[in-house]
Amino acid sequence: MLNREPYRRLFTGDNPNNDVPGNDESQNLADNFQFDDADIIIRAGGVDFQAHKFILSHVSPIFKDMFSLPGNQTSQKGVPIIELVESAQVIHDLLSMLYHSVNDPDFNNLNDIHRLLLALRKYDVEKICMRVAKQLEAKAAESPGRVFYIAMSSGLVDDVARTAAWHMLSQNIFDLATTHVPEYNQFHVGTFQQLLRYHVKCGDVAKEQCSNLRPQGLDWIWLQCRTSDCKGSFSDRFPDTSDDRLLSSRNQHPSVKRWWLDYISALGERLKVQPLGIDYSDEGFLKKYADGASKCSICGPPAMYQLTKFNEGFEKQVRAAIENVPLELDEDDFLL
Ligand SMILES: [Zn+2]
Repeated sequence: MLNREPYRRLFTGDNPNNDVPGNDESQNLADNFQFDDADIIIRAGGVDFQAHKFILSHVSPIFKDMFSLPGNQTSQKGVPIIELVESAQVIHDLLSMLYHSVNDPDFNNLNDIHRLLLALRKYDVEKICMRVAKQLEAKAAESPGRVFYIAMSSGLVDDVARTAAWHMLSQNIFDLATTHVPEYNQFHVGTFQQLLRYHVKCGDVAKEQCSNLRPQGLDWIWLQCRTSDCKGSFSDRFPDTSDDRLLSSRNQHPSVKRWWLDYISALGERLKVQPLGIDYSDEGFLKKYADGASKCSICGPPAMYQLTKFNEGFEKQVRAAIENVPLELDEDDFLL
């Protein structure tokens, strides 16, 4: 029987033997792959993993073919040896996921995930590919650029790359365009342009929401206030401008207060460069416009609270609008 505890430790770094020299550590990777009934040895990075042809053939047509070819290496016990070019860590991870199907290892390192995915693709091991993809996707919010590259180069375009591109919308577009991510050098500039175009489109759509709001919910103070000293505009929607010509247009629609127009206009400018992930509860930002409202005795007291409440619904509106923006990705032209 396999002992799961050392297996877990190897992935969490909680290995009591981690003070042994490097080669011994690599040898430890094979600790859980010692079977009396093994009928194949997978050698990788100088480490021998005992395994079973039946299990590997079942998940990989490539392994199945390899086992059918005559080999020239055997162990002392006469078990055939197949030597792979992958590192011991990669083969350890691959075999661990095959042999321990209940608890997937918790990968901390994106490079380990990438190498494993490449091996899974090479050996056509579909069975665990989506489980690794899930782990990759879970890191998309933290490292969207790197995850995007790994997903694209591992054939996980729809499953993970699009999620990573979505998380890039939380970056300011200027940061996205200028921050050094080593992986960006690995792919075609056309792909990078597709990402930037997507970001720009989403920014436009997000900003548009600031002028697509119909003045519903007439309890909003910026619509209700009727005092003559609280300047407002007459408009059938909230324009994303504070142009004075709009302030003088006349129609039957409720007036929108100038301090509110200033707020929604500033919010639109933020969304244009960072469609997702802006802090809608940024007190400094809200206070600036709530202070503008405080010049009016009606608008002033509820302004901060109402802006906060408004933002809760508006954030959802922005997200829903961005979700409809298509992302064109040319998978075939991805790598240099
Ligand atoms: Zn007012």
